[in-house]
Amino acid sequence: MSQLSFEFPDNSVKQFDDGITAEDIAKSISISLGKKAVAGKVDGKLVNNQEPLHKGGKIEIITGDSQDGLSVLRETAAQILKMAIANDFKNIQFGESEADEDGFFVDTDKPETQISVDQLSDLSKSMEKIIKQDLPIKVVELSQADALKLVDGDAYQAELIKENTIDGKVKFYEIGDFKSIAEGAVLASTGKVKIFKLLSVAGAYWQGKSSNPMLQRIYATAFNKQKELDADLAKRKEAHERDHRVIGNELDLFFVDPKVGAGLPYWMPNGATIRRTIERYIVDKEVAHGYQHVYTPVLANLDLYKQSGHWAHYREDMFPPMDMGDGEMLELRPMNCPSHIQIYNHHIRSYRELPLRIAELGMMHRYEKSGALSGLQRVREMTLNDGHTFVALDQIQEEFQRILKLMVEVYNDFDIKDYKFRLSYRDPENTEKYFDDDEMWNKAQKMLKGAMDELGLDYVEAEGEAAFYGPKLDVQTKTALGNEETLSTIQLDFMLPERFDLHYVGEDGKQHRPVMIHRGLVSTMERFVAYLTEIYKGAFPTWLAPHQVKIIPVSQDKHGDYANKINDQLRQLKIRSSVDTRAEKMGYLIRDAQTHKIPYTLVVGDEEVNGNSVSVRRYGEKNTESESLDGFVNEIQKDIASYSRN
Ligand code: ATP
Ligand code: ZN
Repeated sequence: MSQLSFEFPDNSVKQFDDGITAEDIAKSISISLGKKAVAGKVDGKLVNNQEPLHKGGKIEIITGDSQDGLSVLRETAAQILKMAIANDFKNIQFGESEADEDGFFVDTDKPETQISVDQLSDLSKSMEKIIKQDLPIKVVELSQADALKLVDGDAYQAELIKENTIDGKVKFYEIGDFKSIAEGAVLASTGKVKIFKLLSVAGAYWQGKSSNPMLQRIYATAFNKQKELDADLAKRKEAHERDHRVIGNELDLFFVDPKVGAGLPYWMPNGATIRRTIERYIVDKEVAHGYQHVYTPVLANLDLYKQSGHWAHYREDMFPPMDMGDGEMLELRPMNCPSHIQIYNHHIRSYRELPLRIAELGMMHRYEKSGALSGLQRVREMTLNDGHTFVALDQIQEEFQRILKLMVEVYNDFDIKDYKFRLSYRDPENTEKYFDDDEMWNKAQKMLKGAMDELGLDYVEAEGEAAFYGPKLDVQTKTALGNEETLSTIQLDFMLPERFDLHYVGEDGKQHRPVMIHRGLVSTMERFVAYLTEIYKGAFPTWLAPHQVKIIPVSQDKHGDYANKINDQLRQLKIRSSVDTRAEKMGYLIRDAQTHKIPYTLVVGDEEVNGNSVSVRRYGEKNTESESLDGFVNEIQKDIASYSRN
C-alpha cells in the first residue's frame, strides 16, 4: 500500500497508509485528541473525519471547540435542516447553503408560498426528530447524470451539481434516504448536533445577483453548549436593538426603497431634524475654528476628474458620465476635493492666507456595489462634512494637530468614546500603487507619527493602507453588527496640488507649492446619523432629539389652552415641542412619548394650570416631578446647550 506524507502544524512530518482517515490520524497522536477530533483540514480544506484520504499535505486536526469545529457542527446542522425541509415541504427547491462564524443559512424556493417565520418552530421540531434518531451521515459519490436525475425539477440544484462536479462525479451527504450536495465537512451522525436555533427568514437573491430570482433564506446557528448559544442570542438581540435600520423605522427617521433607487435614502422629518441639527452644529464649529464654508456643484465637466486622477484611479466607484449630446460630458462628483481646489485657485493666494481652510457639506455620489449598501451607513448619495486645508510645508504638523483637537472636541460633544486611531502608511515595496516620492513619504509619515506622539494619543500603524497620494489618519468605530467602519479621516496630499499646479506667493515674493490636507470630521451625514442612532440606541440627547418636549393635557377642554401656551413659549425659544391632542388615555400617551424616546414629557392638569407649573417626566425615568414652568424652561435650555446625554 502506498504511503501518504502529512505535515503537522508543528512542522513534524509523518507517513500514513493511503486511505487513512483524519480520525485515525488524530488517534495515532493521542487517545484524547482522537476523541476530540471532529474533522481534518488538509491543505486548508476541511475533510470529514471518516473520509479516506488519498493525498498527503499539510494537515490540522479540527476539534469541536475551535472555529473550524463550529463550522463543521453548523454544516451538519444545515444538512439536518435541509432534510427537515425536504420532509415537511413538498416540491421545495434548494439554493445555496453555508456555514460560517456567524451561523448557517439554507436558501429555498417554493413555487407557491415561501417558508415563513411562523413555520420555524415546526421545522425545529422536525430537526429534533432527525437528531434523536442519530442517523449516520455518509458521503456518497454519484455520477453527474444520476445526480441530475436525483434533483429533477430543481434548476438551482442542477446548477450547483454542475459547479461541484469533479471528474464526472458529485459528492453527496446521505442521511437515511435524503441526499444533499456535499461541500464542506460534517459530523458522523445527526445525533452529534444538539444545540441549534432557527433565527429568521429573509429574501436573498440566487447567487447574490439582483437580476436573479429572490429565494427565501433561513438563518440559523448551532453551538456545542447551551450557554454559548444563550450568549450569542443575547448579542444578536442587542445588535438588533441597536441596528439603525430597525430604530430608523421605529422612530421614522428615514427610508430606502430599492424600487425608487437602492442606496438613495429619503430623510423623513424626524431624521431630517437630526441631520439639520448636526449640520448647523458642525458648520458653526468649523467657522469658529477658521474654516470658510462654501457651496459647490455636484456636477462638473468630466475633464475635472481626469485632471484630478479620479477618472483613472476611482472610476469603478463613479456613476457613468452624462453625455449631453454636444460633446460635453458631465460627471457626478465622487469627492469634493477638485471643487475646493477650484475655490483655492480662483484667486492668487498669499502665504498670509495659509492655512486656508475651505469646508462644505458636500453632496457626492458613489456607485457602491448593491450588496454593500446598508441603510444610511453605506449609500450611493451622501453629504460629507468635508474640508480641505491648504498649508505650507512647515505648517503640516501644527495644522494636523489642530484638526485632531477639533475632532476630539466634536467627539466629546457627541459623547463618542469607543474609537481607535489608525495611521496608514504606504507599502514601501509597492512603488506602483503610491505617488512616487520617497522623501515626501518619509517626511509626511514621520510628521503624522510625531504629531500623534506629541498629543500622547494611542494608535495602530497600518502599512499599505495609505491613500495613493499620501499617508492618513483614520478613526475606526464599530457598527452594531460588529463591522469596523471609518468615521473620520485626515489625509495628507502632495499630489493634487501638483496636478492642479497650485501655488501661493511666499514671503520671499516667489511662488511655492502648498500641501493639501483632506479631512472629514463627522463623516457623511448618512453614516454619522446611522452611527449615532446605534450608539444612542435611538435615545438621542436632547439637543439632537427630533422631538424634545411632548405636552399632554389631562383634559383637552380644561387644560388645552395652558398646554398650547407652554408649547408656544417653548417654540419661541426654538425648542422642538408639540401638544399631544389625541383622545387617548393618559397612560397610553405617556408610554407613547417614552417609546418615541422623547426626552421630556410634560403632563398638565388643574394643579399645573393654577400653579403655572409643569409635571415633568424625563425619558427613561419612572417618576414625574413637579416644577415651575420657568424652572423647567431653564433646565431644558441648559440641557440643550450642554450637549449632554440623558
Ligand atoms: P470606505 O472605506 O468606508 O468606503 P473611503 O475610504 O472610500 O470609505 P473617503 O473617500 O475617505 O472614504 O470618504 C470620506 C468618508 O465618507 C469616509 O471616511 C466614510 O466615513 C464616509 N463614506 C464613504 N463612503 C460612504 C458611503 N458609501 N456611504 C456613507 N458614507 C460613506
Ligand atoms: Zn478631499
